[in-house]
Amino acid sequence: MKIGTNKNSSIRLLIHGGAGAVQRDRLKPEREKAFMEVLAQSLHVGHTVLSAGGSSVDAVVAAIEIMEDSPEFNAGRGAVFSHEGCNELDASIMDGAERMAGAVAAVTTICNPIRAAHAVMINSPHILLIGQGAEAFAKAQNLKLVDPTYFYTQRRWDQLQKAIARERIVLDHEFDSDAPLDNDEKYGTVGAVAVDCSGNLAAGTSTGGLTNKRYGRVGDTPIIGAGTYADNQSVAVSATGTGEMFIRTAAGFYTATQVRLQKKTMTEAAENTLAEIKAIGGEGGLIVLNAAGEYSMCFNTSGMFRGVIGDDGVAYVGVFSGGESLAAY
Ligand code: ASP
Repeated sequence: MKIGTNKNSSIRLLIHGGAGAVQRDRLKPEREKAFMEVLAQSLHVGHTVLSAGGSSVDAVVAAIEIMEDSPEFNAGRGAVFSHEGCNELDASIMDGAERMAGAVAAVTTICNPIRAAHAVMINSPHILLIGQGAEAFAKAQNLKLVDPTYFYTQRRWDQLQKAIARERIVLDHEFDSDAPLDNDEKYGTVGAVAVDCSGNLAAGTSTGGLTNKRYGRVGDTPIIGAGTYADNQSVAVSATGTGEMFIRTAAGFYTATQVRLQKKTMTEAAENTLAEIKAIGGEGGLIVLNAAGEYSMCFNTSGMFRGVIGDDGVAYVGVFSGGESLAAY
């Protein structure tokens, strides 16, 4: 049974491209423009799906795929490198109608990990497939596989060399003003939440994880209830930030539970979740959407790349907080 189905409700799509220590005076205009263009494209592609009557799940996949294909974001092409110099990708998706979910972790040859997560959800009895098994499954599903070098970008490689030199495991979002990495590089995980014309919610998230990560480290992104969660009875959530703390707080599920059981507003719930994360040394952001199309985008970093589009098809994108934080694009 589909819960919360609401024929002819408003459509809406929210996306993020990572939260972090983005400083206004250090974000070069051409980089900002490049980010905004991809965010706007992602929103328009997802909106095309929704406005044609497509499902929130398909809109989330389509929107995330655009960001995975862009070298600007830490997901798909443009993913950060592990200590061993590999790009190990994680992604997940959840369908709020029946709480179906799928995820892949530590994959190295799947061109669009969000498509693999989707295939796990709809074509397997499982939720989370990892490494070579996930890749064998993707091959059997006829998904596009690529040589691992496809994911190589020079700036991510240079970022790894700096992290190794400093003996640090670097989160894209890490806030370390004493030893800043390139300020333009501190963000990039991508996510989307959507509500379709039937009132069904979906959420998805995709990442390369942490620069210089080791030992098969997996963060919150492919963990259902942490980096991604969707339930028509509450909200759809996609997270970005210090993955370990988002797992420890079950960030996605915790946010949804506050809305459903404690009747918190989405902003209250997201802010509570981020406060819990901060209390254990983490930071990041959340995008949250309900079946009525109401939403919240919260972060406790200086910026979060993000955007929103609704029935009118106008894409609003931005990175910083404050009055004129989102602009039509
Ligand atoms: N949450 C992701 C992870 O910990 C990283 C990110 O959001 O940038 O793998």
